[in-house]
Amino acid sequence: MNAVDNQTIPMRWDDAHAATLTEAQLLLYRSNLLGADKRITNFGGGNTSAKIALPDPLTGETVEVLWVKGSGGDLGSMTLDGFSTLYMDKLQALKQRYRGLVYEDEMVDYLPHCTFNLNPRAPSIDTPLHAYIPHRHVDHMHPDAVIAIAATKRSRALTEAVYGGELGWLAWQRPGYDLGLALEQLARKHPHLKGVVLEGHGLFTWGETSKECYENTLRVIRRAGGFALRDTRGLPGLPVEQPIGETQARMALVARGLGERARGESAWAIAHRLVVERDRRLVPLAVASPELLLELEASAPAHGSLAVISEGRGDTRTTP
Ligand SMILES: [Zn+2]
Repeated sequence: MNAVDNQTIPMRWDDAHAATLTEAQLLLYRSNLLGADKRITNFGGGNTSAKIALPDPLTGETVEVLWVKGSGGDLGSMTLDGFSTLYMDKLQALKQRYRGLVYEDEMVDYLPHCTFNLNPRAPSIDTPLHAYIPHRHVDHMHPDAVIAIAATKRSRALTEAVYGGELGWLAWQRPGYDLGLALEQLARKHPHLKGVVLEGHGLFTWGETSKECYENTLRVIRRAGGFALRDTRGLPGLPVEQPIGETQARMALVARGLGERARGESAWAIAHRLVVERDRRLVPLAVASPELLLELEASAPAHGSLAVISEGRGDTRTTP
């Protein structure tokens, strides 16, 4: 880790405090730490999970239970009741019901049937993304610095350049059951991976303990920020255009993610290239309104990251 990386998002894990917590409380602790820094994920965005061995309330047998942030709320302020809890064996059995991509939405209705311990918290549509990754602890974040990579046309090549094979990459796909299976396949095929960059969307990272997962997530995000600051010339073919209007707000967000506020101008230049490069049409479109961006996302899903940035803007707006 070089000096640039160390200037970015600080590790806040407190071992003494963590030693007093149960496995579920450790998941909550990790979630609150991650959600408290909007460079790591936007308000209301991202989710976390842990696969925890617990006694079944009916049989007393030990079963594996997925604790995953449910629908609604924000990671930074959530409490334990914000997690949905589901039997892992039932989630695995669901695979037999899956009829393919065009039917993936019907899988959402099966999720409540997997509920553990009558938990009333509704499972989110991201549940299968966490369930099928074969690691005990999983974070899904929308970090500014990683989105700055994920949102470029060259996101696959950049992921390889920044992480040198430590992270996998998946092409844009709407979050849902099928993406869960794609994540599982990738993680099983490449067991050395520390996470996956989702094109135009964000990041999945994991670990075998809550602390390991938390540290891995931060390391991955720090490296994205460090890379972009060090190596702007490593991004061939990015057009340089003058930032205008609304586009500036998004770029400021990305620039902040790069951890370079003091030297805002260079971060600004980098963010500008990264954000604008995704599609030149965004320059005039982005000045119009956030609604237009959402519309754009609906017509071209690969621009999902811009909606993510737009979503977080209300909470995290910065000016250079
Ligand atoms: Zn997401």
